[in-house]
Amino acid sequence: METEIQRLETPYSEITVCLDMAGCPNRCKHCWLGHFPNGNLSEADLRFAAEQFRPFTSCLVVDDWYREPDFNAKYKERWKLCESLSDQPRTHFELLSVWRLVRDPEYVKWLSSLGLKTAQLTLFGGEKNTDYYTGRKNAYREILEAIDILIDNHISPRIQVFLNQANIDEMPFIEALITELRLEERCREFDEKFSCFIHQGSCDGENEKLYPIRVTPTEVQKIPKLLAEYTLRHFHKENLLDVFGKTEQALYEALLSDHSTASYVTDKPVFYVDSHFNVYPNITSPTPFWLLGNLKTDGAEKVLENYAKNRSLAQSVRMNVPVCELAKAQGNPTSQRLFEKSDYIQYLLNTYCQSLADK
Ligand code: SF4
Repeated sequence: METEIQRLETPYSEITVCLDMAGCPNRCKHCWLGHFPNGNLSEADLRFAAEQFRPFTSCLVVDDWYREPDFNAKYKERWKLCESLSDQPRTHFELLSVWRLVRDPEYVKWLSSLGLKTAQLTLFGGEKNTDYYTGRKNAYREILEAIDILIDNHISPRIQVFLNQANIDEMPFIEALITELRLEERCREFDEKFSCFIHQGSCDGENEKLYPIRVTPTEVQKIPKLLAEYTLRHFHKENLLDVFGKTEQALYEALLSDHSTASYVTDKPVFYVDSHFNVYPNITSPTPFWLLGNLKTDGAEKVLENYAKNRSLAQSVRMNVPVCELAKAQGNPTSQRLFEKSDYIQYLLNTYCQSLADK
């Protein structure tokens, strides 16, 4: 009865809880989530996380991952468990485990049975660069194998390419690979569209370390024609700079007169719970200055209170420090690196919080 009353009074129309049960086989250098040791959590742990949040919403959505989906061997059982713990039907993200796809013949059949039509794979250029940036030997070869497995099972691959100053010269190779593998034609044979896009990603987590080689307009001008066309089609844009954003110099100058602050609180929050049950809002990399509390020691009520009252250091800074002050403190007024505005503010906020934490 008490639970019902709490549900009626809750301000959250939906809560999504994502538990990092198994982690990820990769250590991508662009990973916005950052690198952490892999956990090995149990189904009881997932039930516990769900039960913690259940009293505070009438619509709970539960996921057993927030790094690589289906990395754990019990991916089918865990999918069913997430379904049983969630209040609404779930669809599989257009993300998958390449690691599992090339090792487990059942996996692609299972993905097909869930109705997956498109799956995203990430390249950084040829074998050497893709292995290096994925942080795993044989990543490139496995991605090529994964492309064939997907197409054989009528799932179209969507190729994501991360661009920086160091891998721009590999873009013609990717363009040639797409043509050589006849990806357009092979997807058309089962009435699906092949797609591909290039971008630079956000500038948080591991990707923040690539700030020195972040893409500038010089590299954007060098993107080969076919990759440019795919990218514009994917993002529904007319111009590549609408995809890559503005230079840091331009954003910095504009933000100097922006006195706004902001709250990240919504009535449909998504929470990341790491393998030690620390909880973070899924805004950026789960770093200590975004920590909301621990499910085991604080409980969900306290975590939600900290969230709603903007008590994590990063939320508090964003609520109280105007953007112009973040820019003055952390921005580079002469940098030609390209950012989407929201990614740039996120970058400024994270580096500002890190500087406070370092003091
Ligand atoms: S980007 Fe994705 S696949 Fe790469 S390390 Fe991060 S979670 Fe794993």
